[in-house]
Amino acid sequence: MGKPTGFMEYLREVASEVSPLDRIRNWDEFHLPMPDESLQTQGARCMDCGTPFCHTGITLSGMASGCPISNLIPEWNDLVYRGLWEEALDRLHKTNNFPEFTGRVCPAPCEGACVLGITNPPVTIKNIEYSIAEKGWESGWITPTPPTKRTGKTVAIIGSGPAGLSAAAQLNSAGHWVTVYERADRPGGLLMYGIPNMKLDKQKVVSRRLEMLEAEGVTFICNTEVGKDLPAETLLKEFDAVLLCTGSTRPRDLPIEGRNLKGIHFAMDFLTGNTRTVLQGRPTADYISAAGKNVIIIGGGDTGTDCVGTSIRHGCTSVTQLEIMPKPPETRAPSNPWPEYPKVYKLDYGQEEAAAMFGDDPRTYMTTATKFEGDVSGQIKAVHTVQVQWMRDENGRFSPQPISGTEKVIPAQLVLLAMGFLGPEQPLLDSLGLEKDARSNVKATYGAYATSLPGVFAAGDCRRGQSLVVWAINEGREAARECDRYLMGHTDLP
Ligand code: FAD
Repeated sequence: MGKPTGFMEYLREVASEVSPLDRIRNWDEFHLPMPDESLQTQGARCMDCGTPFCHTGITLSGMASGCPISNLIPEWNDLVYRGLWEEALDRLHKTNNFPEFTGRVCPAPCEGACVLGITNPPVTIKNIEYSIAEKGWESGWITPTPPTKRTGKTVAIIGSGPAGLSAAAQLNSAGHWVTVYERADRPGGLLMYGIPNMKLDKQKVVSRRLEMLEAEGVTFICNTEVGKDLPAETLLKEFDAVLLCTGSTRPRDLPIEGRNLKGIHFAMDFLTGNTRTVLQGRPTADYISAAGKNVIIIGGGDTGTDCVGTSIRHGCTSVTQLEIMPKPPETRAPSNPWPEYPKVYKLDYGQEEAAAMFGDDPRTYMTTATKFEGDVSGQIKAVHTVQVQWMRDENGRFSPQPISGTEKVIPAQLVLLAMGFLGPEQPLLDSLGLEKDARSNVKATYGAYATSLPGVFAAGDCRRGQSLVVWAINEGREAARECDRYLMGHTDLP
């Protein structure tokens, strides 16, 4: 370790961002690169603590903590401190196929688990990861590495999000011929059509990696919905193994009075139409504009934040985000020593932009919609809301209960429902006769990924439920390992 006293000498610094009022003028990424010297100093803050929770995805008690893909964080922090960037990139690629994605969009559970974080601000791990990856691309160190030998085995992957892509990369590296089926017009899953361009650039960043995978031998077949355009049985017959990575795509609805009014949309319809429009340079048929509208977003997670940032870039008149805190503080596990999940309290980029534009955090906490009110043409014109509080019911379970006297009517011409997802779409699973878990996800044990059908595996959000890019990469990699073992009888994949 190069600098044992770094954590005592240097303060935490993070990368700056384009200021909110400037960045809302376009769809460009707003992360700014950090100078190499600052990154080296930040790398030196890593204590080599000996108990690097940052790189341990799951603790012995089964609690999620640190990096789900077990990135070798202390090692590449030290390599960056010593200016050995190419070696740092090699270390990073050992555990992560796509550090340029996680370096941009991961909420960095590693930083939440950093041991230095017990007494000081944690090490700036995410910015260092981003910079290692970008230096790798800029310096030409990331080049196609097709396998030297082919096994002759074939694998079909359904769904091209981070789970499908990481599995494709791993299975291809093991020498199998991999074909990825995607129903959208471009591969990438939520990397392409969920997370907006200003957080993750589609052409410069996502497509760059997709082209690399193609150059390494992965085949992508888009505009093809398996189970509709192509029977799933065909894949079972024609491929030696099949991996389901179809995501958690069923949005949670809000079936209250007025739900059928015009102007109420699922967040994903809004975000997908927007990204298509950004990519094509002109409004597409599915484009939903927030320009000149009072926008109400129901839901406060990443999806809600992305709707805030997108609405502001459209030129909305106002934006309000209704959010019920996930659980009352007293239900937090006493065994949880770490700060609460950072997203709950943090002003994320969309809220920062709304605050800069309209002078206030757009989030209204512990408030829910009770009714949508329309005008004579059937268009939404207002949302009726009420504040709620968490109360225990007769079974001792918490549920949000309305507080009388707190009712409000908020004008709205556009409502976006961003209340989470209920699991994978069921018809494909049913047509294959796959067993499901209690939450209607594909039933396959974490670590094994085998479904109830021999030769069929499942990974990512369709197996674990709505989650994070980094967990999808973890599952894709591990499912590839199990699939390789099934095909070859043994595996060298990590
Ligand atoms: P997905 O990325 O959902 O990909 C599944 C793919 O399967 C889709 O492309 C779909 O079209 C395709 N598909 C489905 N059925 C079929 C079929 N029958 N035939 C062919 N193709 C099919 N996570 C983060 O870590 N950071 C973030 O900032 C973040 N922001 C998010 C923003 C939004 C708006 C959303 C919705 C999620 C966000 N997430 C974020 C979560 C993250 O994107 C997901 O956890 C991750 O993408 C899941 O990966 P996956 O590969 O399992 O599925």
